[in-house]
Amino acid sequence: MQFIGDIYAAKRLSGRPVISLEFFPPKTAEGDKALLEKNIPALRETQPDYCSVTYGAGGSTREKTLTIVDRIQSEHQLPALAHLTCVNHTREQVGELLQKIQATGCKNILALRGDPPAGGEFQATPGGFEFSAQLVKFIREQGGFNIGVAGFPEGHIACKEGKLADWQHLKEKVEAGADFVITQLFFDNADYFTFRDHVAGKLGVKVPLVPGVIAIVSATQIKKFTQLCGSKIPPALAARLDEIGTDDAAAAEFGIEYATQQCQELLRAGAPGLHFYTLNKAASTVRVLKNLGLA
Ligand SMILES: Cc1cc2nc3c(=O)[nH]c(=O)nc-3n(C[C@H](O)[C@H](O)[C@H](O)COP(=O)(O)OP(=O)(O)OC[C@H]3O[C@@H](n4cnc5c(N)ncnc54)[C@H](O)[C@@H]3O)c2cc1C
Repeated sequence: MQFIGDIYAAKRLSGRPVISLEFFPPKTAEGDKALLEKNIPALRETQPDYCSVTYGAGGSTREKTLTIVDRIQSEHQLPALAHLTCVNHTREQVGELLQKIQATGCKNILALRGDPPAGGEFQATPGGFEFSAQLVKFIREQGGFNIGVAGFPEGHIACKEGKLADWQHLKEKVEAGADFVITQLFFDNADYFTFRDHVAGKLGVKVPLVPGVIAIVSATQIKKFTQLCGSKIPPALAARLDEIGTDDAAAAEFGIEYATQQCQELLRAGAPGLHFYTLNKAASTVRVLKNLGLA
């Protein structure tokens, strides 16, 4: 399987954006079946460049991350990006996980600190890592992987010193060995452009800064998500979502239109790719990619 850094480099040369799709491990057997037998195959038709699979805060879905990574690679012949977090892991345990990831043939890891299982403040595990930059360094020392990290165009929610300090920490992650950055979802492209100007322009970070995009499918759900992850809903978007209320069909149509316009502007402004938070569903992302002429 390919290194994702090589995919970004090759696509940059050919002037095409890299399309990546994010999935999470379902909690039920029906969810697994729908993801692996219906939604990933439907999205496969759009010829994405790679897929990523999230890593849960704890419990049984953690084990599923690798199973899904394995199946994406073996059944769909797509490069996979396995998310990995510092939550509840010692260095030894991370070392063992890296061996398991390598055994699937996966060569790409999104190295994250992760959020605490029950909310609240993150606590480092004794013998583990406090910040994702330490995890990046550890993976780099083991060798054999390309490494992605998370970036926050509006600043990370827990960074009390503000977004400039958070972006400085992002630079430290890249210096520790990260090959690319995928951002948190955002709805105002101006936030991404300011982030990119600062991180690439002022701080001199040279790796791809890939915007994370979501096509809204429910007004209630997106309000909850953004409260948790700290992304803001601009006033005009909030007003439109209030009008839509609980009509999820209308929310999904609107979400496709909004994401299409957002992506068009990002691509015109030279974004290296688009990372879609698919919510494990195919329909909206397929429609956005078709609207963009990228399916
Ligand atoms: C694309 C993407 C995918 C994600 N996937 C998952 C997933 O699969 N599973 C999951 O649990 N979560 C996931 N998350 C959420 C992520 O784990 C949380 O946002 C987490 O709170 C921060 O992770 P991080 O890797 O950015 O942490 P870090 O880089 O460690 O940063 C955490 C905080 O510490 C600060 N900081 C960093 N270094 C220092 C330092 N040296 N001194 C002081 N402060 C410092 C940062 O500014 C930030 O506020 C994802 C996020 C994104 C954007």
